[in-house]
Amino acid sequence: MHVESDVAIVGAGAAGLPLARWLARPPEGARRLTAVLLAAPPGPARVPPRTWCFREAGAGPYAVLVASWQRLRARSGGGRTVRAGIATLRCKMLYSDALDALDALVGGEIAASRRGSRVEAVVDRVASAPGGAVAHARRAGGDRLTVRARWVFDSRPLAEPPPARAALSQHFRGGFVRSHRSAFDPSVVHLMDFRAPRPAPRTPQPAHGFSFG
Ligand SMILES: Cc1cc2nc3c(=O)[nH]c(=O)nc-3n(C[C@H](O)[C@H](O)[C@H](O)COP(=O)(O)OP(=O)(O)OC[C@H]3O[C@@H](n4cnc5c(N)ncnc54)[C@H](O)[C@@H]3O)c2cc1C
Repeated sequence: MHVESDVAIVGAGAAGLPLARWLARPPEGARRLTAVLLAAPPGPARVPPRTWCFREAGAGPYAVLVASWQRLRARSGGGRTVRAGIATLRCKMLYSDALDALDALVGGEIAASRRGSRVEAVVDRVASAPGGAVAHARRAGGDRLTVRARWVFDSRPLAEPPPARAALSQHFRGGFVRSHRSAFDPSVVHLMDFRAPRPAPRTPQPAHGFSFG
């Protein structure tokens, strides 16, 4: 199958979805472009679930926040505690499942706009072509799909970092803590704790990079 479009968006993640949404609902007076969103089907190309925190003023586009805070706290390696308010921003937290809901919503909006589609396919190659580029993909059933577009926005993870650049490798380990007595202040988010191995939490600093609890 072959599709022609103004824009092809590879990846329905934190970058791809807002772009697709913006193209489906362009502001008054903006040029109307057709867009194809290529979203990975369930499988290895889908990113694992995660928790996201971000800072934003106002209500924002995500109705499904888990929590939000205006007061932050951090602890230095020497144990010094820094507290600060971040008005007019809020630190907001959502589960990436909310992004799946956004994915479904954006897919519906693109279809309703009649200027594009959301297609589940794994993109294996993006190649330059006269006047744009072609994304080569495979659908869940194995069928080949090519999307030729004037602009291709590719948010697949890089196979290797560009020359003289390091790849940022993040490893997160999380857990739920339950206490017998009231021990947490739900009005403050504790963002970083850089303390040395003792007392807990243990955050020994590696020789390269840094680590926090
Ligand atoms: C555990 C964890 C916690 C994080 N917490 C935060 C946080 O609190 N705040 C924050 O700002 N950032 C956080 N980040 C970083 C944040 O997730 C990334 O910066 C952000 O997701 C990058 O957006 P992206 O669209 O480039 O990539 P992604 O959101 O990863 O999206 C890439 C998309 O491409 C798709 N894809 C991959 N390969 C293919 C393919 N071959 N074909 C088609 N589609 C493909 C994937 O399924 C995915 O949907 C966290 C990351 C992790 C791992």
